[in-house]
Amino acid sequence: MSVMEAREAVTITVAVPVYNEVEILPELYRRVREVMEGLGESWELILVDDGSTDGSTELILGLAEQDPRVRPVIFARNFGHQIAITAGLDYSRGRAVVVMDADLQDPPEVIPDLVARWREGYDVVYAVRTEREGETWFKKFTAALFYRLIYRITDVGIPMDTGDFRLLDRQVVEVLKRMRERHRFPRGMVAWVGFRQVGVPYKRAARLAGETKYPFRKMFRLALDAITGFSYFPLQIATYMGFFCAGVSALAIPVVIALRLAGSQAFHGQATTLIAVLFLGGVQLISLGIVGEYIGRLYDEVKGRPLYVVREAPADVDRPQSPNTQ
Ligand code: UDP
Ligand code: MG
Repeated sequence: MSVMEAREAVTITVAVPVYNEVEILPELYRRVREVMEGLGESWELILVDDGSTDGSTELILGLAEQDPRVRPVIFARNFGHQIAITAGLDYSRGRAVVVMDADLQDPPEVIPDLVARWREGYDVVYAVRTEREGETWFKKFTAALFYRLIYRITDVGIPMDTGDFRLLDRQVVEVLKRMRERHRFPRGMVAWVGFRQVGVPYKRAARLAGETKYPFRKMFRLALDAITGFSYFPLQIATYMGFFCAGVSALAIPVVIALRLAGSQAFHGQATTLIAVLFLGGVQLISLGIVGEYIGRLYDEVKGRPLYVVREAPADVDRPQSPNTQ
């Protein structure tokens, strides 16, 4: 079958990043199959194994053997959630692609609602979390803070309280496939692409089993990628701070001179000098660090390495080979 024919045959792709989810995979497959068979469309389930070490890989390959609609993409190592989503899009053949998590926090039962909106003519249908179950207050608080911060300082209009659970039309997927940045924030990239977008509310369930693969460290990195990827605001902070410090000192100079001439002892002593020097030093180091964040990312992009390396994957799709090939 040629690539074109293969693509025609599939209406909906469900793309799922998987990292050590061995307890959940059979249930995930069962529920996705049930929902998709209920829809009556042709479908495929792409399971992107992001370097699992708990036997998920073998389970995925086993599922694919039983059911040819399950298509495995096995990474050579762990490349991270966002990259795994990218591979899911790269290997998808459907006229629409649904991206969702493996842990069933995004219930497959919402997929028919997404598809219904797509049928109405929307190109991006994202699922909005109205409630989150089974997550710590810390996770909910940091997530809420993150969405609001990102919403304020970027100018692409990234919808609030929306994860990666969404349906994308083939047109949108093709544009995303050409965006090969390394430090990626797929939600922001989808917002950047545009087209007709709409939200569908849903209740985010608790994780079915296992633990979150997003410790604070990874959430922090994702937040940095999101901010640096879609905003220059942190770089401008250095400028604002510079103007602020320069302004304050300019005002302070005549005041200090006047006080001194009047015989005041107010600004005598080392403490004042020390505080001023340390404050300025701190501001400069922070600014340098911010510039460093951008330079490091710039360096990563310039190297132009492939986004991920696959050990095993379907051969009948034309996917972008490296960041420098279109
Ligand atoms: N995941 C992945 N690679 C990683 C970390 C996570 O592919 O390095 C997958 C994971 O298997 C799950 C999804 O990304 O399907 C979301 O992860 P998780 O549920 O742990 O995140 P949370 O819902 O707690 O934010
Ligand atoms: Mg989860």
